[in-house]
Amino acid sequence: MSCIDFEKFVTDIIDGYRCTARELESVAKLPLGQLVDGAHRVTQSCSSRTFNFCAIVNAKSGRCSENCRWCAQSSHYEGKCSVYPLLGKQAIIENALKAKASGCTRFSLVTSGRKLAAREVRECAEIVRALREVTSMEICISAGLLTKSEFELLHQAGVTRCHCNLETAPSFFSKVCDSHTIEDKIKSLKAACEAGLEICSGGIIGMGERLKERIELALTLRDLGVPSIPINVLEPIVGTPLGTQPYLSEDEIIRTIALFRFANPEAYLRFAGGRRRLSEQATRMALRAGINSAIAGDMLTTKGTGIDDDKRLVKAAGYRLENENSLDFDHEHLWHPYAATLSAPTVRKVIATEGTRITLDDGTQLIDGTSAWWCAAFGHRHPKLVDAIKRQLDTLPHVMFAGFTHDPAIELGRKLLKMVPAGLQKIFYADSGSVAVEAAMKMAIQYQCAVGQAQRTNFVTIKKGYHGDTWNAMSVCDPVAGMHSLFGSALTARYFIESPSCTFDGHFNEDDMKELQSLLQTHDDIAALILEPVFQGASAMRFYHPRFLKEAKTLCERHGVLFIADEIATGFGRTGKDFACQWANVTPDIMTLGKALTGGMMTLSCVLTTNKIADSISAAAPHAFMHGPTFMANPLACAAANAALQLYREHDWLGEAKRIEHGLKEGLFSLRAHPGIRDVRVLGAIGVVELDQPVESRWIQEKFIRQGVWVRPIGNLCYLMPPLVTTNQELKTLTMAVCRVLQKQIERQNSRQCNGND
Ligand SMILES: *Cc1c(COP(=O)(O)O)cnc(C)c1O
Repeated sequence: MSCIDFEKFVTDIIDGYRCTARELESVAKLPLGQLVDGAHRVTQSCSSRTFNFCAIVNAKSGRCSENCRWCAQSSHYEGKCSVYPLLGKQAIIENALKAKASGCTRFSLVTSGRKLAAREVRECAEIVRALREVTSMEICISAGLLTKSEFELLHQAGVTRCHCNLETAPSFFSKVCDSHTIEDKIKSLKAACEAGLEICSGGIIGMGERLKERIELALTLRDLGVPSIPINVLEPIVGTPLGTQPYLSEDEIIRTIALFRFANPEAYLRFAGGRRRLSEQATRMALRAGINSAIAGDMLTTKGTGIDDDKRLVKAAGYRLENENSLDFDHEHLWHPYAATLSAPTVRKVIATEGTRITLDDGTQLIDGTSAWWCAAFGHRHPKLVDAIKRQLDTLPHVMFAGFTHDPAIELGRKLLKMVPAGLQKIFYADSGSVAVEAAMKMAIQYQCAVGQAQRTNFVTIKKGYHGDTWNAMSVCDPVAGMHSLFGSALTARYFIESPSCTFDGHFNEDDMKELQSLLQTHDDIAALILEPVFQGASAMRFYHPRFLKEAKTLCERHGVLFIADEIATGFGRTGKDFACQWANVTPDIMTLGKALTGGMMTLSCVLTTNKIADSISAAAPHAFMHGPTFMANPLACAAANAALQLYREHDWLGEAKRIEHGLKEGLFSLRAHPGIRDVRVLGAIGVVELDQPVESRWIQEKFIRQGVWVRPIGNLCYLMPPLVTTNQELKTLTMAVCRVLQKQIERQNSRQCNGND
């Protein structure tokens, strides 16, 4: 392969190209320096720059029934090794704590034998439970050819990763072991995946295999989607059949690592056994070629290296250590939104924000395509908002709102009433969107009770909605996309009607009203209809015809049912109107606001309603609306909201929304024709790409970050809701990144068999 070709080869790989065995064979002939430089570029662009150490403990040793020809633990040979049954809890815990103290973030229990016996699997699960009581390190298990149900048992106990090396190329395996097959191993790895575990699988080089076979191994691992690949170099052990195998040269070892990197651009390549023989110079080259993780500690039957030496070399190679910037603490102890704590999602540390930019602790700047969950409408850390909060902080950061009032609350109320649909007269401040929805629902019920309709205690909503995560808010979220199946009968059953079929600018279809009409006619237990006007956010990211609102409001009025508009996502210009209800000139009976209310600075929400409703509630016993959060009308939050509304008034933000709408259409509509894309839709400063399949969230987040943007799809919905201050150039960067990354995602999903790392 010529120089130019190699350049293209590297660029293509960075771009997602899956190389062939042939290409790797030809690349392998290049001078070592050139090969390593190419692999280094792939590592830098595609794989983790944070290095992690996994400590292993040999939890059960020797007397193995298998005849792996390299292994001292095989009972077929005379290799020297310790022989002991499964270690006790205490010994293993001590080992783990020591590993943790030395900077390891993973801990792996390794046991000898074809597989653990059922009793030992249960014992292991107990050990892992005991481990998890004292440490939150990630736990791996390497216990042979277990079945799915055995893996499930271990997963429930807290294991997150299964380790099982393929060891060598499928075509070579029978030459080094014939007591089990490589198919047995693949079957077990697939079972681990199905049980929800991540997989870690690599091999040993230097067992007499040829380059061709190393390449075959690298590509087999790729096709399995293995995210963590240990690379061992054979340490010939006296007494085993491979005991007289010659050592691999340093050149061959480094070359192999580079080839593994080209074959597995994103994976962790993990230095494992046999590396201690490498000179420091060769270790440096191996790190450069793509080693970005290592196994530390007791290296089974051969000696591992000292972790402090490792750390020094790793840092010199430009990696960060996983436990260095407290991300390991986050990983082990902090729960993130909608996230597991086993195999917790990757999070990045943010150190600053400004305008449209989010700055990470490594200096990376991302253009925020989400407005931080749709709240930073005027950009992050707007100086006027910052200033307002600072000033407020000096005089009155907080006081209870019962029995007291203050200027920030009064001022904010004044501003809100000037903006919201006429007729809304009363304002109830709350502390988050979900709480506002709870309060709105309680208001509706207290109202119905007050007007002699105490039987009206239920709600109707349209499917595909989202209203928050608290109890009642959750009950009116979409019954399928929402969390209903999980909480089952603990949630009150609501009435769900189909969400309007007609699109925002399509033809309105009267039939869309029929279901609501007949429901309201036949049921007298409904207190209110609650919906997100025009734009259904978190559950569906879809727009519907405004006329639906008008007709629904009329039906509600006719049947004494209240109309609640949840404008938490749509308020303040997002859809191209101040409030989405205004697309239909509807004044809701109750309206909720949140998210952009403080310009994304503080948590604050409010519920607005009419005098009719407030008066009715107040006139009836107990002559009060029964809700009152501790931090109600927090002055700091009100001051931020005041400044945000002031900003909102001073500038033509609807014009900006229009401009962004144009940019989103221009940038995203080209995806419409692309296979794998179901729909692309845009309204105001909201652009949505709906895919046929859910995206791999972990993979796609990484790809977006590499493009310099912050975009976070929900399932199969990839959306942009950038701050309204986003420039046209930034918008272009965002839409180009979405097009590029989604196309790559679709290609990748079409070409993978087993999704190992999501
Ligand atoms: C985000 C959202 C909520 C919930 O707000 P939180 O502040 O997250 O509690 C409620 N309704 C809608 C429409 C939302 O988009």
